[in-house]
Order: sequence, then C-alpha cells, then structure tokens
Amino acid sequence: MKNTRKFELTEKEMPTQWYNIHADMPNKTLPPLHPGTGLPLGPQDLVGLFPMELIKQEVSMEPFIDIPEEVLEIYKIWRPSPLIRARNLEKLLNTPAKIYYKNESVSPPGSHKPNTAVPQAYYNYKEGIKRITTETGAGQWGSALAFAAQFFGIEVKVFMVKVSYNQKPYRKSMMNVWGADVTPSPSPYTETGRKILAEDPDCPGNLGIAISEAVEMAAKDPGTKYSLGSVLNHVLMHQTIIGEEALKQFEKAQDYPDIVIGCFGGGSNFAGISFPFLRGNLRNGNKTRCIAVEPTSCPKLTRGKFMYDFGDSVGLTPLIPMFTLGHDFMPPKIHAGGLRYHGAGAIVSQLLKDKIIEAASVNQLESFDAGIKFARTEGIIPAPESTHAIAQVIKEAEKCRIEGTEKTILFNLSGHGLIDLGAYDQYFGGLLHDYETTDEEIRESLQKLEKIAV
Ligand SMILES: *Cc1c(COP(=O)(O)O)cnc(C)c1O
Repeated sequence: MKNTRKFELTEKEMPTQWYNIHADMPNKTLPPLHPGTGLPLGPQDLVGLFPMELIKQEVSMEPFIDIPEEVLEIYKIWRPSPLIRARNLEKLLNTPAKIYYKNESVSPPGSHKPNTAVPQAYYNYKEGIKRITTETGAGQWGSALAFAAQFFGIEVKVFMVKVSYNQKPYRKSMMNVWGADVTPSPSPYTETGRKILAEDPDCPGNLGIAISEAVEMAAKDPGTKYSLGSVLNHVLMHQTIIGEEALKQFEKAQDYPDIVIGCFGGGSNFAGISFPFLRGNLRNGNKTRCIAVEPTSCPKLTRGKFMYDFGDSVGLTPLIPMFTLGHDFMPPKIHAGGLRYHGAGAIVSQLLKDKIIEAASVNQLESFDAGIKFARTEGIIPAPESTHAIAQVIKEAEKCRIEGTEKTILFNLSGHGLIDLGAYDQYFGGLLHDYETTDEEIRESLQKLEKIAV
C-alpha cells in the first residue's frame, strides 16, 4: 500500500445510485419562482422544457436515486475514473499533506460534464424526445451533450456564443464529429437572435443570449426539449457519481479526506466531488471541510449576495434563490470560461448560507501558475477551470507544511486543458493578467436586482 499511486474500482464496484443531498439538508432550498408572476414554480411550468423524470429529480427528497442500467453502460466507457495520489506534487511542495485527485479528464469530451449529459439524454430518449437544444460558451458543455445524445439517436442543436465559435474551432469540430449541429449565436433561427442581429449584425453574443435562443426553440416545438449543464438540482445530483466512487476508493486507500476542493462555475463538479463526503458530515458528524473555489474576477460566493435572481442574463429563466453578482454582471474575459457565471445553484447556495461548505477565490495568474506546477509534476495539463482548485490545494498544503499537520486533501480535476492550450500560450507570453472587481461594480450590479428582490 505504501507507494500506491492509483486507487481504481472495477466496473462491478461502480456505485449504482446518485446521492440527493437535499434529503439530508437541515434547511431546504427556497422554491424557484416564475419569472413572470413571481409565484413559486410548479412542475407544470417546466414540462415544456424538460422531460418529466428530470423534473421529478429536480424536486425529489429521496436521498438516493438509482442510475438506470443504460446510463451505467455508457458511464463504463470511461468510469470508474481513477483516484490518484499526487505524490510528485506533494514532493514539490515539501508538504506533510497527502494530496489526492479524482481524474474526471478521462471522459471522451475531457471533463466531468458527460456525467450529467448522458442521463439527461437518456431520460429525453425515454420520453420520446427527438431533439435537444442547448447553449455553450467555450464548448465544453455542448461537446458533452453531443457525445451523450448520439447514443440515443437524439439530434442536438447547440447555440454557441459567436466569439467562441470563431476563436475556439476545435470544440465545435468535436461537436460535429459527434453529430451535433452548431450555430453561432445570435443566429437568424430564433426571434431573439433575429431581433439582436437587426440591431447589431456584428454582435459577438454571450451566454445569456445563447440560453434565450435555445430555450425559445425548445419552447416552440413539442418534440424538442432544452438541457442545462450545471446549476440545477438534478445536474448536481448526477455528478455525485464522482464522490460516490471516491468514497469507495478512499476505503481502498485506507484514508479519508479532511479537505475536499472543487472549482466552481455553477456548482456541478464541486457538488459531485463534495456531496457524498458532506453526507458523512450531516449524518455522522464528520468534519470534512468542503471548499468551492471561484475566480476573484467572478466572486459570487465570496462577495456576492444571497437573493433571488435569474439563471440567464436576459431574464427568461425562473428566479432562483442563490448567491449572485446580479444577472447582467459581465465578468472579465478570463480563460476559465466555465467559471464565468454570475450565480450559483440553489443547493450549493443554501449550503454556503448555512456554513456547511466554504468558499475561496483565486486570481487568474495564481491559477495558471498552479496548473503549470501540476502539469510538470503529475503530467496532466489541467483545464483553466480546474487550475483554480489546484491553486487552493497548494495553499492548503502549504498551510500544512507551516503548521506541520498531515492532512488529507482531495480535489476534483474537472477536465484537461488540451483544447485550451491557447490560454497557456498567452500566459507564457505575459498576455494574461489579474482582474480586480471593485465593491462599487458589485454593488451597482446588485442594486439593479433589488427591484425584483423577494
Ligand atoms: C464547465 C466546467 C466547469 C465549471 O462548471 P461547474 O458546473 O461549476 O462544475 C469546471 N471545469 C470544467 C473542466 C468545466 O468544463
């Protein structure tokens, strides 16, 4: 056991249930509200957009939900993912801490996102849906959904933010290989898109517009549904396969984490790695610290406010009770595109409010520096998003060195950076810098929200 690096599970040992932390939370989330009426949302309000099974999961209070056999079969293409002891990084940091990471970069699209894309595609297929629309920024979510949907013969229509469509051609190529149709957004195919293009034919697009286009197209066609890659309760739950595997792998390692760390965009990979360990805290009084790490340039958890806000920047989605910077807060164009989101999922927000989880923030340069340390010791080039988790791990490991404490740290390597190498080039060229978001900017953005405050 002494020098073991990799703790693997066989296919037979793979967990067969997702964990729904909502069942164990001392305070449940506040209900989402209808964007038009301001009244609590009923399941009926969602049937146009999501299949019934996902709506049920969204509001479920069952602690465990069976993973369908068909989903497990596809998971097996890359799961169980390995748990790895980062011995070389430990050596570099000269720390008594033990550092482990769960390697979610081994999925074919290269991130944790297919953990939810596969079940979402499956439940749509079961309910006879022929087409799914979605939006994507840099293309991580779009490529995961394209990969997943082809197994079930579902057509995928991706609205990709136009700047990214032009600047990041390779994820678009991946989506095309997996059979998805990718349209730069704003597009001429929706009312939203046409209206924006009429005013500004060169509009570079943003995620809010792309969401509006995808939602509009799904709402207008009964055979088409919409799919979201983070934030929602059912999405976070699907990701718990990560932490459930890690629990079993720690048994093999005869160890248990004192600290669990994940980077944070809307909350899905952080939830995936941490919720199963939080179960140990909530049910058995364990004291594992779970830390969500965001970029300092988009600090909704550390400097935002807990209130109702829209999930998109246009104001079409339900109002969600969350930590937010305000839905039209425009985060600087950092390279961790997956972390440039104004809000946080309702469950993680409630957990943070109740101090059951912690939050930290990391600057862009610090995160790239950490990513390069990791690549040069452990070999894997991390996604710019994942480097935020690594930077926090390094801070905690250095604390252990100074204090002489031998803590066990686990983090989620949410993806690899092989399609983000341009960002590393810019880092080496000295072209990246840190952003300071001022209190004034945050206050201004939140002030606009007070009007709809509930
Ligand atoms: C999308 C993405 C994230 C951020 O999204 P979460 O829902 O917060 O997990 C982080 N890492 C990678 C690699 C991603 O693709």
